Amino acid sequence: MLKLTRHDYDSLRRHGEETYPHECCGILLGRVEGDGTRFVTSTARCGNTRTDSAHNRYNIDPKELVRIQREGHERGEDIVGFYHSHPDHPARWSSTDLAEAHWFGCSYVITSVEKGKAIVTTSFELTGSDETDKRLVDEPVEVA
Ligand SMILES: [Zn+2]
Repeated sequence: MLKLTRHDYDSLRRHGEETYPHECCGILLGRVEGDGTRFVTSTARCGNTRTDSAHNRYNIDPKELVRIQREGHERGEDIVGFYHSHPDHPARWSSTDLAEAHWFGCSYVITSVEKGKAIVTTSFELTGSDETDKRLVDEPVEVA
């Protein structure tokens, strides 16, 4: 399960509206609680480095990822997930999303944005033990 504050939830949905018709992407920072719930305490917006196909692909610059991870650690936060938007497509993961997901035990949040308006936000947990058996599994999202 993924828990977000109203502020962070609105912020990642707004990000998708702002970058429409391109995909937005960003990182969820927070902590994992005892029962495995990921609790988001901040979000970090990333630039989409995919200029060839920005409407249906996203990519986070590894240098940006490392910087955000380090700054999070300084605040006592870990990376607990990632988010991106699907302009004019449903909030379901694509085969590319699965192929490019590598952080086991993290949440992958997708927001569908139709005609510039954020519609549905869903989350999937990357489960499995390695690249051959990994899966994206539906998980509940709770906005507090
Ligand atoms: Zn996607």
